[in-house]
Amino acid sequence: MEIFKKVGESARSIGEGAKSLGKKSSDLVGVAKLKYEISKLEKEMEINFSAMGRLVYMQYNSEQGLEAEMDQLINSTRALEEEIDALEAQIDQLNPKQLVCPNCNTELPAAAKYCFKCGSKME
Ligand SMILES: [Zn+2]
Repeated sequence: MEIFKKVGESARSIGEGAKSLGKKSSDLVGVAKLKYEISKLEKEMEINFSAMGRLVYMQYNSEQGLEAEMDQLINSTRALEEEIDALEAQIDQLNPKQLVCPNCNTELPAAAKYCFKCGSKME
């Protein structure tokens, strides 16, 4: 259960105070942290994309020997994409499951007491 270990680690790193708030808030900290990591990686990707655009323009102007640089940029962008996917998968696991009406399968807010579509009472 790799994911639970990670939650534990992030809770520890923000100190004793957060620990007393319980598991749910440490989940939220985990998600916020992961989202922050993703936004950093997305910024790196933007930088790669603009560098690629520049290389394409240089190649269009008949500059030679840019292939190695382009390869490097593409590889690094792929690696960033994979990292982002992995972080998003972690967020999915941390987020509480969507409440679904057992009677009509309508997705409901987590705190719903009744289904707004068919009126079934939620457990
Ligand atoms: Zn329903």
